[in-house]
Amino acid sequence: MTKKVLLLPIFLLCCVQFSVAQHVYCGHQRAMNNLANQIPSFKQAVQQTFAEAKRTAQTNAAARSNELLQVQVVVHIVHNTDVQNISDDLVAEQIAILNEDFQSLNADQANARDMYKEIAGNAGIEFVLASTDPDGNPTSGITRTATEVETFVALDLDFAAILEASAECGLDFTCIQEKILVGGLEENIEAGGVQMDDVKRSDRGGIDPWDTERYLNIWVTNLNIDFLGQSMPAILGFAYPPVGAPNWPDEVFEEDLSAIAGVVVHHEAFGKSNAGDGLIGSLADGGRTTTHELGHYFGLRHIHGDGGCGEDDGIADTPSADASQQAQADPENLPVCEDLYSIDTCPDDDRPDMVENYMDYNAITCQNLFTIEQVEIMRAMLQGPRAGLLGQQVSTSTAEEIAATQGFEVYPNPTANSLNLSLAGYNLADFEVRVQNILGATVTVNVAKGNTQIDMSNLNSGVYLVNLVKEDLQIVKKVSVLN
Ligand SMILES: [Zn+2]
Repeated sequence: MTKKVLLLPIFLLCCVQFSVAQHVYCGHQRAMNNLANQIPSFKQAVQQTFAEAKRTAQTNAAARSNELLQVQVVVHIVHNTDVQNISDDLVAEQIAILNEDFQSLNADQANARDMYKEIAGNAGIEFVLASTDPDGNPTSGITRTATEVETFVALDLDFAAILEASAECGLDFTCIQEKILVGGLEENIEAGGVQMDDVKRSDRGGIDPWDTERYLNIWVTNLNIDFLGQSMPAILGFAYPPVGAPNWPDEVFEEDLSAIAGVVVHHEAFGKSNAGDGLIGSLADGGRTTTHELGHYFGLRHIHGDGGCGEDDGIADTPSADASQQAQADPENLPVCEDLYSIDTCPDDDRPDMVENYMDYNAITCQNLFTIEQVEIMRAMLQGPRAGLLGQQVSTSTAEEIAATQGFEVYPNPTANSLNLSLAGYNLADFEVRVQNILGATVTVNVAKGNTQIDMSNLNSGVYLVNLVKEDLQIVKKVSVLN
């Protein structure tokens, strides 16, 4: 009995270390499982939103083009030590990497095998640090928050839980790690301890997001776990996909999911010249963790679909791959990319594993492309559920416009034929109505001021911006058209 108790910590230490060495640490699936457990309709909402994006990608020319779409970014640095308080230069460097990766400008794409280079897509997304904050004040697009929280990943050291996990998982160390790392929303917070999304909450030692409809929020913080005096990375980052299909009723979620939209990245994995001081080291070199997590944020799954060969990522031009067979990068012994080219975890598929893909799980250092279909999905998401990010109002709205938007209603949304307008606090008759497509081109001008209804029946399906314009005042609302 005594012997058993003594062995337990040693076993656990081995298990955690083994796990860290063997597995590239994206927390996406864990975050998804957390939400799915707590919100029964979450999975369905994700699937429906993905299906909608796929339909849009097939029919909407804007989704298929690579015309540049600009996204305003705020980077929240939440630090417990000086090392975690990364420099503005490092943030700028990461933004530059994103702009290369999402515009197919990264030099290392030349290294991709021909069969995959041919289907590399240009997402045509430009990331810009916000110059105006939600209150309309000038900003660098970077916030800094000192925190008492040493790490924003929790390791549940309840021995009963560890025993239970090992009984269930056997020697599957990933499975054990998943079970002893805790995370989640309100229900888990009641149980105490640090939770996965705490970095997104000022009342939990993090910082509340800026309006997640209008800004891409990126939190950079410590995601190490501390165990028996050892500090080691638990995950490199995580993100949630969009859940706002036009026909998905918002009220099915009791929780405000917009409060957790955005991307969380380990401070050591952020930027290129951030060598870090821990186990991540060169594993996350290149700033590709943020690229990968943004893929999730725009609706992409891991290309192995987080399952076996039968499990797909819903994207036709990525080959299938088996999650359990994916080679994992050892941070102290990085692979030569060519050595990974022979990996074919699903031999029935006609192509080998696509280690070049940002959403693959083999080695982050060998990644250099998204495929054409992945890019179409991301652009459809950005023009659908994430369309708020494209609104011009982020950089140009005045405080009055932001306040006025609260009283501006458009309904029904989505609509097929006519759209009703109402505006509290102002006289609608003073405003001209302009409808713009998501790329900013005006498609309808209604100069007969005072109309409370406009005709949308001749517009193609897609997301549009309805503008109310009066002298210096411009109020904007997003509307989906399903025709
Ligand atoms: Zn991932």
